[in-house]
Amino acid sequence: MTTYASLLRTGWYCNGIWQTTVKTYPVNNPANGEWVADVALAGTPETEAAIAAAAAALPAWRANTAKARAEILQRWFRLIMQHQVALAELMVMEQGKVLSEAVGEVAYAASFIEWFAEEAKRANGKTIPAPKTGNQILTFKEPVGVIAAITPWNFPLAMLARKLGPALAAGCTAVIKPANETPLSAFALIVLAEQAGVPAGVINAVSGDTVAIGAALMASPVVRKVSFTGSTATGKLLMRQAADTVKKLSLELGGNAPFIVFDDADLDAAVAGAMAAKFRNSGQTCVCVNRFYVQDGIYHRFVQKLTEAAQALKVAPGMTPGAQQGPLIHLQAVEKVEIHIQDALKLGAKLMCGGERHALGGSFFQPTVLADANEEMRLAHEETFGPLAACFRFTDEQEAITRANATPFGLAAYLYTRDLARAFRVSQALESGMVGINEGIISTEVAPFGGVKESGLGREGSDIGLDEYLETKYVNLGQL
Ligand code: ADP
Repeated sequence: MTTYASLLRTGWYCNGIWQTTVKTYPVNNPANGEWVADVALAGTPETEAAIAAAAAALPAWRANTAKARAEILQRWFRLIMQHQVALAELMVMEQGKVLSEAVGEVAYAASFIEWFAEEAKRANGKTIPAPKTGNQILTFKEPVGVIAAITPWNFPLAMLARKLGPALAAGCTAVIKPANETPLSAFALIVLAEQAGVPAGVINAVSGDTVAIGAALMASPVVRKVSFTGSTATGKLLMRQAADTVKKLSLELGGNAPFIVFDDADLDAAVAGAMAAKFRNSGQTCVCVNRFYVQDGIYHRFVQKLTEAAQALKVAPGMTPGAQQGPLIHLQAVEKVEIHIQDALKLGAKLMCGGERHALGGSFFQPTVLADANEEMRLAHEETFGPLAACFRFTDEQEAITRANATPFGLAAYLYTRDLARAFRVSQALESGMVGINEGIISTEVAPFGGVKESGLGREGSDIGLDEYLETKYVNLGQL
């Protein structure tokens, strides 16, 4: 008996009922390829039913007081934390990440539900002095309506909680589409939502035929907003599809994060930050470092220490005690890392450690460090999304900024320096939505997460995260 047996669901979920389909698709464990579950393969009719259920549930849900919605969200938060280990073990099974990180992700996911339970009560409008005597101007915040949340496999719980928390707090109802690699974590979250008292129809879930589900969600005039986290290519497609019904969009897309280490940095802190920002989730996060820019005077020492730290990582299946690096999600992910390494070596990079598939087989890959990277290489322009740390050398501050900004992406950036003026100067010059200064882990529910340029639209978390699910209605009262 597993810890998560009571949370396991494999159907599609509509109006509070788990339903089956004739066709199913398998979910496999990335660590060993073993079968975990067969999941309902939903498509167009199921998605349309889910949208109708969300629309039917909307009037009652939005009519609740914010406090009433907040109480339900608080219960949901507590239930998630009570099931922290079970949810984490389920996540390890379908996603592959190591248990310690999965446990951390459950708490991170829960934090969004708690945060937005609190923020629900602060959807304040305004009064505005009218330009005409005898008039009064007011604004009200209203839920946008039915929303769709499309989420990736790398953080199967957190990315969903970051959308459902503010959506439900604002008074919206939702259709969710988790990634086919990791639907079970999302479904487990729904089981706990039910127990917390989220009414039928407020959350509905479909997975399976991704293209059909996506098309049905995007074509529906009932769905007023789509919140998506995933690849830039898919984000651009959704943006085009949203045009026909003019949906609101939040897009959290790919990155190409620079990590700049100046000569005056605290070397040990920079290496510790680099390890966290590069190798978390085996390099499969959108804020993972893609390019280390290291100044001449500290370059060799930094590369050496980073190499030692990467070599010391314990690569093992996620449930192995002490495991620090799990497998990549699938073999295509491994192939992309290999292509980036081969291309870089051909163009003059120096292999410091790793570089090959791990002896554990499957989609395990050795933590890899490359020195002497340059902008000719594919890894400078494309997100590797794997355990590959590429080190570029630079001479002066302006050069580092120019090279860091030479990308269409702008999600996260990091810099290490002990010079306060430089820290401010460089963080202001970097074209990115988020900057970590002497800090490698920047994700938290209290701060606005999101990107500029082709990394996306909108912000998640923080006080402004709720606004993404609210419309402002302006009322002009005359004849007073
Ligand atoms: P990744 O490369 O990380 O899998 P994707 O952008 O393909 O990134 O996937 C992120 C999410 O978007 C997943 O839930 C996936 O199923 C979904 N998705 C992919 N293609 C489409 C599409 N055409 N319409 C709607 N959702 C899609």
